[in-house]
Amino acid sequence: MALIEQEMSPVRTIAIPDPILDVLSIWRPTPLVRARRLEAALGTPARIYFKNESVSPAGSHKPNTAVAQAYYNKQEGIRRLATETGAGQWGSSLAFACSTFGMECTVYMVKVSYDAKPYRRSLMRVWGAEVFASPTDKTNSGRAVLAADANSPGSLGIAISEAVEDAANRADTHYALGSVLNHVCLHQTVIGQEAKKQLAIAGERLPDVVIGCCGGGSNFAGIALPFVPDVAAGKKIRLMAVEPASCPTLTRGPYAYDFGDTAGIVPIMKMHTLGHGFVPPSIHAGGLRYHGDSPIVSALVEQGIMEARAYGQVGCFEAAMLFARTEGIVPAPETSHAIKAAVDEAIAAREAGEERVILFNLSGHGFFDMASYDAYLAGKLVDHELPQSSIDKALVELPKVDAA
Ligand SMILES: *Cc1c(COP(=O)(O)O)cnc(C)c1O
Repeated sequence: MALIEQEMSPVRTIAIPDPILDVLSIWRPTPLVRARRLEAALGTPARIYFKNESVSPAGSHKPNTAVAQAYYNKQEGIRRLATETGAGQWGSSLAFACSTFGMECTVYMVKVSYDAKPYRRSLMRVWGAEVFASPTDKTNSGRAVLAADANSPGSLGIAISEAVEDAANRADTHYALGSVLNHVCLHQTVIGQEAKKQLAIAGERLPDVVIGCCGGGSNFAGIALPFVPDVAAGKKIRLMAVEPASCPTLTRGPYAYDFGDTAGIVPIMKMHTLGHGFVPPSIHAGGLRYHGDSPIVSALVEQGIMEARAYGQVGCFEAAMLFARTEGIVPAPETSHAIKAAVDEAIAAREAGEERVILFNLSGHGFFDMASYDAYLAGKLVDHELPQSSIDKALVELPKVDAA
């Protein structure tokens, strides 16, 4: 109930309970770093700062909300959480969070990732979670998929159905979602709030541009939403979401009501969407392959308060390599989209001879994604052209909603 209240709350500030702060303090505040070596390599007059969320136990921003969700569930007598995970970033974050509050955690991990990413699976087990390759024979939805195709590779949509069914059938269990929803974005605003204080401590002015990669929108919302009141007060700050060209939700998807899941069992939300049946090409930034986006981010893009941009993965990996070789951190493939935008902004500042302050969110490290770097180094990465017809096909299935 506490999370649902937060989901609907009109209140601007909600205090973080002490037991959550206590866990967050294991790695928070995260460092705000000036990327001087990257600036030098680009020969830019811009000052580039990044907020390093990769220092969390799971290696990304996701534990910020996982810890809060585990805490509020525990408070209300829930002793077990069920969830899905694609590449394993959310599953490992929730496994960690549950372990800190003595809760059980069950993760339905998409079968292809379960087989391809064994170390994320191991990480979840280190933190005490039970991990199943989805589809499983433990749920009706899993059994139905297996009956039709015994070798199904699974999908995020199927794994969501399994986790929701698991939670619905047990009184001691709730389902937890790692992105998109308002309460998730709220929990992530700790990133932008810290960044503002840290910029002030460093004697720096407000940034000209704030950048985050965007899958479901939570890490971008986390760094950017705390700057929205400044924009509303007349400050010129560009808030830029960066998505993959092969899953261009904000840049090419309409603003419409749609289901958050593939099966169409969860409530519809108004958001930018490519259609709940849209299947993006397989790219290395698995965390950015969601058909929809946070309703808050979508509305702010619609109103022109936030902007969006899309990049192909090859250019993003080039930016990631430059970052790894200057700043020393190997970023997650998802994060490389934000880095590419920051690099482009720094180059634009150089060409305009402008002193620009750039802030981006380093949403996670890439230590579990080294196979993607191998593919890049072997010259095997390609950019996928996404024909309009493949978007149009999925948009036909948008739910029909009475405008009134
Ligand atoms: C999950 C993930 C993302 C994408 O999710 P958002 O909700 O859009 O933030 C981005 N970066 C990393 C490192 C992730 O793990």
